[in-house]
Amino acid sequence: MFEPSAQIESLLTTVALRQATSAGMRAMMERESEFPSPLVASLTGIALDPNGREFADQALDTHWSDEPSQQEVLDTSRDDREVIIGSGFHAAVYAATRVLCGFPKPLVLERNARAGGAFAMTARPTFYLNSRNRAGSGGLAGDQGASLNYLPGAPIQAANVSMVEYQTNTDMLTELRPGSGSSGRRGCLGGAMFRCHDR
Ligand SMILES: Cc1cc2nc3c(=O)[nH]c(=O)nc-3n(C[C@H](O)[C@H](O)[C@H](O)COP(=O)(O)OP(=O)(O)OC[C@H]3O[C@@H](n4cnc5c(N)ncnc54)[C@H](O)[C@@H]3O)c2cc1C
Repeated sequence: MFEPSAQIESLLTTVALRQATSAGMRAMMERESEFPSPLVASLTGIALDPNGREFADQALDTHWSDEPSQQEVLDTSRDDREVIIGSGFHAAVYAATRVLCGFPKPLVLERNARAGGAFAMTARPTFYLNSRNRAGSGGLAGDQGASLNYLPGAPIQAANVSMVEYQTNTDMLTELRPGSGSSGRRGCLGGAMFRCHDR
């Protein structure tokens, strides 16, 4: 079961309280019974609503750039924590898999202002993926029944936010970013985001 971080919980509350950003969330909550949990319904609602998505994106960028929060992450980090350099899709897959296997959340270092690697190059849809949009979980290359865009443990998968055959770069971000920095050990994505600069 996915356990949201304090930052995601705060984001959900803020989005819900704002008329301009909550339309998608309210629409999905009316269909809550079709989702595995109210949390997944809320996050899907945010991802499907351009206003909600933009607001959430900015809120997460602001949070991850906040230096006192970064310092707190470092101060409270265990010495044996794994460190991942770069916050791209593969960092998310690795961190999520490690957490699902019972290991502590890795610390993810990112030099760019936005987390998410190549897919986070832009906040608006700019390019299409070349891997097909498929339901289902991950698998080996060449497995036509597997989804290359699947992120282990993510509360929403890219396949849940659009039906187009080739999704956009920002559709991938909707699965990547809500899980980063989440808390708990089961079914959550790993990784506490930490922005760094090359020296
Ligand atoms: C147009 C286009 C379409 C694509 N379509 C697909 C597709 O459909 N399916 C697919 O699987 N792949 C696709 N890709 C490839 C996609 O970019 C990769 O699959 C995916 O982004 C790789 O993730 P990654 O984590 O390895 O690297 P990246 O996404 O490149 O992330 C690396 C991150 O590491 C950070 N970093 C690097 N060095 C440092 C450092 N020294 N310190 C701190 N941070 C650092 C970077 O800033 C970046 O955020 C596409 C790529 C492009 C350009």
